[in-house]
Amino acid sequence: MRIAIISDIHGNLEALSSVIFDTRSRNVDKIVCLGDIVGYGANPNECVEMIKTECDFCLIGNHEAAVFDDSISREFNDFAQYAINWTRENLTKKSAIYINSLSMSQIFDNFTAVHSTPYEPHLWYYISSVEDAIFNFNFFRTKFCLIGHTHVPGTIVLEENGNISVLQPKTFNYGADFPESAKFIINVGSVGQPRDRNPKACYVIIDTDEKELSFLRVSYDVAQYQKKMRNAGMPEFLIMRVAEGS
Ligand code: ZN
Repeated sequence: MRIAIISDIHGNLEALSSVIFDTRSRNVDKIVCLGDIVGYGANPNECVEMIKTECDFCLIGNHEAAVFDDSISREFNDFAQYAINWTRENLTKKSAIYINSLSMSQIFDNFTAVHSTPYEPHLWYYISSVEDAIFNFNFFRTKFCLIGHTHVPGTIVLEENGNISVLQPKTFNYGADFPESAKFIINVGSVGQPRDRNPKACYVIIDTDEKELSFLRVSYDVAQYQKKMRNAGMPEFLIMRVAEGS
């Protein structure tokens, strides 16, 4: 089976369309989404519709949760708060019902999927260090944990002997390169707001027959996305960072 995993779209219809188009030529059997469909971008409703049509399931991200819960959006920086207020005003009732129905985590086959961390995913912690990852390896039983949230792609591997490997976002064979008992935390990066200094949309394909994991980068019309953000009155900081992938 070939599974595409996407996350952190953030209302970027240009990036999402390009990624979905890219999956068409790569024979994927299913697409799953780890949340943050909305926030920052000017097309939250269009992105919700596309996710509903294209994905097997989608999880709730902190930006969805923030739409309904002031105590979450209050923790955001001013830019993200502006974007959440804009999203609240512009979300259709249909989209709101959908994002309010999303679940916090999903276990399928060898995979545990969450937006943030397997430890208390509703608290929206980040895995941004090896220490964070080591702690979180205690909180899932499957071979793989799929996450998003930081917008920075990469993989951390824990072997039975306690050996830890930090892998850059690249293609590797988990069957050949690591022992059978190894466990993996895979951050699939962000479709709509990459923050690893590469503005191209990022997503992951896992081939469970070949035991191959690939990080893919897809070009999209960044200028068009920025133009829509500007028309929606989004803060310039949010608009500029998209082109830099920062
Ligand atoms: Zn996000």
